[in-house]
Amino acid sequence: MKVMKFGGTSVGKPERMHQVAQLITKDGEAKIVVLSALSGTTNTLVSIGDALSKGDKAGAKQIVDQLEAHYKQFILDLLKKEETRAKANAQISEHFEFLNIITKISFNDALNKDILAQGELMSTKLFSLYLEEQGIDHALLPALEFMSIDANDEPQVAAIRKKLNAILAAHSAKKLFITQGYICRNARGEVDNLKRGGSDYTASLVAAATNSSVCEIWTDIDGMHNNDPRVVDKTVPIEQLSFEEAAELAYFGAKILHPTCIWPAQQERVPVKLLNTMQPEAAGTTITQEAGSVGVKAIAAKDGIIAIKIKSSRMLLAYGFLRKIFEVFEKYRTPIDMITTSEVAVSVTIDSDVFLKEIVKELEPFGTVEVDRDQSIVSIVGNEIAETKDVLSRLFDSLKQVPVRMVSYGGSRHNISLLIPSTFKQQTLQLLNSGLFGL
Ligand code: ADP
Ligand code: ASP
Ligand code: MG
Repeated sequence: MKVMKFGGTSVGKPERMHQVAQLITKDGEAKIVVLSALSGTTNTLVSIGDALSKGDKAGAKQIVDQLEAHYKQFILDLLKKEETRAKANAQISEHFEFLNIITKISFNDALNKDILAQGELMSTKLFSLYLEEQGIDHALLPALEFMSIDANDEPQVAAIRKKLNAILAAHSAKKLFITQGYICRNARGEVDNLKRGGSDYTASLVAAATNSSVCEIWTDIDGMHNNDPRVVDKTVPIEQLSFEEAAELAYFGAKILHPTCIWPAQQERVPVKLLNTMQPEAAGTTITQEAGSVGVKAIAAKDGIIAIKIKSSRMLLAYGFLRKIFEVFEKYRTPIDMITTSEVAVSVTIDSDVFLKEIVKELEPFGTVEVDRDQSIVSIVGNEIAETKDVLSRLFDSLKQVPVRMVSYGGSRHNISLLIPSTFKQQTLQLLNSGLFGL
């Protein structure tokens, strides 16, 4: 078995879907194909929810109508036979009827999750109908029947494995399966999701659950690049990464991978490949247990970071002090990304302001609390970089003009992280691109 996941741009145009059909039928190996929503759809569904949460029903209805028009045209271009077009229109209409009903009733968070699920439900139905029209034998597996998360929003790996393998066993004559990325059921049995970009996570979980030979993530670029191609002019693809390196890059902002999608594949030692749907012959990036080479591999940046400094002359280095501080973050289920300490202060960073007020209030008894918003973490990732000669000196030589706020070094052998004001992000990534890669 192998898993092939296609992202939004890979299925966002009818001709791309045609191309995906060719890619998945190139060889006879059994496969599970995980699809995202058509590009732009999830953002549009988010904006429908936003409008409804503000009570703007007319605005929401208008967005729903525009989206429906887009899908009607998509069907005309995707399918050729009148019969399949009629089927597609009937199936897609059901989703828009549902969205139209939602624009009329009172809005809540559970309904919002239902809205967000429509994208993957529709893309997989349309793709399945295209395969049917082409006479390509397959089965459409509803992800809501096997993908689940627990009360802490963590995937239920054992349950997913059991349910998915039972479903596959019931279809033992089939070799090609299509399913939705991103969507799942939560501990209450409601429709939920694996957070934005979560189709990668689905793919990795499915690959692990089925002990697949490979988990292929097909996207719009030829693999993981050494730096963020959206920010920096000259970037190059990386041939090989270890699971650890890839996980660090994904967590610290390389958008090509969902932040936590590596661990399921890593746990079952399933290699992950990043490939380009628009350029299938390109080598892409292979992610395995081995790092391949020593040294700096790539740089990534994560925005929207908040730095919190707690200054206390009295008890900072007293034992138990850090535990008390960490307990505040634990209580509000807010993960800390970076931490630095000195004799009189401790600085930490978080990426969510949902409980910021409460956290600051509970930290105040420990000392003076300062909060800095609009920060970015820049992570330099590679293999044994802490031991690699000159990395630190080249790093700081490159950044003479950048006000570095925090540095984290030595926490792992794969990562050096810097905290900088977000206004310096582009300059920092560009300077490091020449300083560390000569690009
Ligand atoms: P998909 O819709 O296929 O999931 P995404 O948009 O989520 O695709 O991810 C692919 C995009 O990630 C690329 O188009 C690129 O702009 C962006 N990206 C950010 N950092 C990197 C990086 N280091 N290497 C490659 N792509 C990156
Ligand atoms: N469609 C979802 C999103 O846009 C999931 C994904 O594409 O991975 O976030
Ligand atoms: Mg993505």
